[in-house]
Amino acid sequence: MPNIVVVGTQWGDEGKGKIVDLLTSQAQVVVRYQGGNNAGHTLVVGGEKFIFHLIPSGILHPGVQCLIGNGVVLDPQVLLMEVDRLKERGLSVGPENLRISERTQVIMPYHQRIDVAREEKQGAGKIGTTGRGIGPCYEDKVARRGIRMADLIAPDVLQAKLADILPEKNFYLEKFLGAQPLNGEEILAAYLPMAARLKPWVANVSVLLAQAAQEGKNILFEGAQGTHLDIDHGTYPYVTSSNPVAGAACTGAGVGPKQLHLVLGIVKAYTTRVGAGPFPTECLDSIGDHLVERGVEFGSTTGRRRRCGWLDAVVLKDAARLNGLTGLAITKLDVLTSVDPVKICVAYDLDGERRQTIPPTIQELERCRPVYEELPGWQQDLRGVRRFQDLPAATRDYLQRLEKLAGVPIQIVSVGPDREETIVVQNPLG
Ligand code: GDP
Repeated sequence: MPNIVVVGTQWGDEGKGKIVDLLTSQAQVVVRYQGGNNAGHTLVVGGEKFIFHLIPSGILHPGVQCLIGNGVVLDPQVLLMEVDRLKERGLSVGPENLRISERTQVIMPYHQRIDVAREEKQGAGKIGTTGRGIGPCYEDKVARRGIRMADLIAPDVLQAKLADILPEKNFYLEKFLGAQPLNGEEILAAYLPMAARLKPWVANVSVLLAQAAQEGKNILFEGAQGTHLDIDHGTYPYVTSSNPVAGAACTGAGVGPKQLHLVLGIVKAYTTRVGAGPFPTECLDSIGDHLVERGVEFGSTTGRRRRCGWLDAVVLKDAARLNGLTGLAITKLDVLTSVDPVKICVAYDLDGERRQTIPPTIQELERCRPVYEELPGWQQDLRGVRRFQDLPAATRDYLQRLEKLAGVPIQIVSVGPDREETIVVQNPLG
């Protein structure tokens, strides 16, 4: 059976959680390979709502092994809270269905405090981070002073590393950011019991994945955020601190490139973006309001109103190339009902020149004017539709145009938040 990577093609919040959940019925292993609890997947199953920030959404399927790869940054408190909340709802989470890589970086209290204090200091120029310590934790990873799960569960190592790191963090917090310093004893008192609880879950995820592959199990690599938030390929510096692109599934989970057989790109039928940064197709008019209201475009992690706009095929084509997409899943198509006409941005006009790719600087991207193609809209409610041929002709035309622009086949169309509200055009997993 093939392995599949699921990635967001835009700026995150494309509805990856629902699609991952859907595909998990055909997977035995689900692994997250990057990001932290700044990701938020919302799933609705049988009318019941679940929000996950860290645990792979596959946890809702009995018998599926969920893994958190080394490319993730993990806040132990958030993970344990998610575990406890799921337990309250009768779902069992333990080492039998969730394992964490011994190489996963741990988010410490100073990461969060630095994140928040920096954004406050930046004022108007802020990136719009979620303040969860994700960026500062990745910084420490690259600077080789991070604390990893293997360190966390070894009390002596944790204590020694903390004693080494904390004075520098406190100096920076107090003297540069004007924030309160942290107390090492208090950190240990909070983290040691969590470490003891998490110890049985810590494993060599790369080895587990190799075993799963050998046993013929199929693996789903779950991306968080989206392609254009990628630290290398996104709209830098308004990006996240990790690599959401499909290739990063190798480094972030510990597998070779030959293990990534299929790459499914999740495309929201329009575009949204949280926080600051250039957004050429943003609609600051009644269309934008319609998309926010009908699409309930408020962040599942922060509750922030998302900026909304037309679908951007330049963004989509870039994502197709950067990820090597083999299929598309279009989500939230129902939200476009009654928008007439619908527009798709097919190119940018940059200083009088046509552009088919995203320029590397935000200064240029800010000057890009979208070149739109207009298509007739539709009035019908799509939520009850289960077959492609039952969609209104205008909706099919819109989808076929998207497919042509992306150069990648549409395999799934989502017409509502529930698992059932889905059209499978062609099952990506065969
Ligand atoms: P993710 O991080 O990519 O999983 O995206 P989010 O969970 O932040 O946002 C997706 C939101 O849209 C969630 O509230 C989903 O329940 C909802 N959703 C997913 N697919 C659809 C759809 O086809 N139609 C509608 N109306 N909502 C959807």
